[in-house]
Amino acid sequence: MSEKGKKFHLYILAGLILGAIAGGIVNSLAGDGGLPNSIKFLLKNVTDPIGEIFKRMLLMTVVPLVFASLSLGVARFGDLTKLGRIGLKTFAYFLFTTAFAVGIGLILVNIIQPGRGLPKETTEQLMAEYAGESEKKLESNAKVDVNTFVNIVPKNPLSSASNPNNSEMLPIIFVAILVGVGITRLRLPLAQSLTTFLEAVGEITVFIIQIAMMIAPVGVFCLIFGTTARFGFDLLGQLAWYVGTVLLAIGIMAFVVYPIILVFLAKQSPFQFYYRARAIILTAFSTSSSSATLPTSIKISHEELKVPKPIAGFVIPLGATTNMNGTSLFEGITALFLAQVFGQNLEIGTQLFVVLMCVLTAVGAAGVPGGSIPLLASVLIVANVPPAAIALILGVDRILDMCRTTLNVVGDVTAAVVITRFEGKNFPDETPGEVHVVESSHVLPPT
Ligand code: ASP
Repeated sequence: MSEKGKKFHLYILAGLILGAIAGGIVNSLAGDGGLPNSIKFLLKNVTDPIGEIFKRMLLMTVVPLVFASLSLGVARFGDLTKLGRIGLKTFAYFLFTTAFAVGIGLILVNIIQPGRGLPKETTEQLMAEYAGESEKKLESNAKVDVNTFVNIVPKNPLSSASNPNNSEMLPIIFVAILVGVGITRLRLPLAQSLTTFLEAVGEITVFIIQIAMMIAPVGVFCLIFGTTARFGFDLLGQLAWYVGTVLLAIGIMAFVVYPIILVFLAKQSPFQFYYRARAIILTAFSTSSSSATLPTSIKISHEELKVPKPIAGFVIPLGATTNMNGTSLFEGITALFLAQVFGQNLEIGTQLFVVLMCVLTAVGAAGVPGGSIPLLASVLIVANVPPAAIALILGVDRILDMCRTTLNVVGDVTAAVVITRFEGKNFPDETPGEVHVVESSHVLPPT
């Protein structure tokens, strides 16, 4: 990476640290009376809008980028056998690491028992304070059932892409894979024009991301300032054992499990990996959104971690939507923590069911801030906890979200380097604009 690039990451890091310090100071000066009007004005009219613009600049590239990179990735695989093999390996890896992450979370929550000592007054106070917010969050009634799978096949792909609240990624992924396979069946001139077009779309999104990254130091400062200025640090003290359990589980995944995977499966130095992935980590931490981080993840994986474009284009968008190690362990710990608070003793069978629900809901959760909260309700029901109990943890959710999103995204990039180790030889270096399309009928039987 150029000197300029290195310096730029330092600016982003500086934005993050300064934002946290400034927000923390403002929060602690405000005391019990809440934030003064001048700060509220600043948040509402200056820092929130700038942070939001930064996030939107990244988010607006997600649908075209996922579509272009995934369909190109699949087309470049060239044949269904390769697609099937890489797809299977990727999903097996996602499933295993997600279940493993929940397992670590559940072991820790059973050992630490963060919910046992929580004073009754704290529970009552938090339930009263956050009841309204929790009702609002649960309103969307998101749940995992058979329709979750039916809805992967869209009635209209354009409406999936233009969902005003959050683009529905699974249907977009589904269509992109079909289009990718379709490209390999087209006559060569047609396939070439379409791939060239999709490559151009990919390059334009990269250009937009570069512009977004120019304002990243300021955007990151504003996002972190807003979070820490509003954050209830007192709450952090009251829920310290719970927050500590989640952070410990995230730490074990990030600093023990992934490094083992990187060394033994990907044959990479974890230090180098984390150093090269720092732009991804900073973006995930400050935006709390796997989707908003996706463009950066694809770009950096290819440029810095040398993941071939077809693999980055396939594994990372899939991972951003379906592979959420941080979210799954957060859900498991939260469900058991709340069960402990409500005096429920969950048998091992129920706990295994909780694991299953966490894996499924982590697949279904949207990659946006707080995307897993509505789905957490289904996990709580399995753990015999009333969904409204989410109110207890909402006050600390944003901080946890920043950390679990970072783990989610690092998990996707780890998957991409692991798959590269096993499949990378099939993708010798690519030059931009090169078309990797096989003759039609190579993939599917001729019609
Ligand atoms: N914010 C998380 C993400 O984007 C989802 C969640 O756990 O709420 O990955």
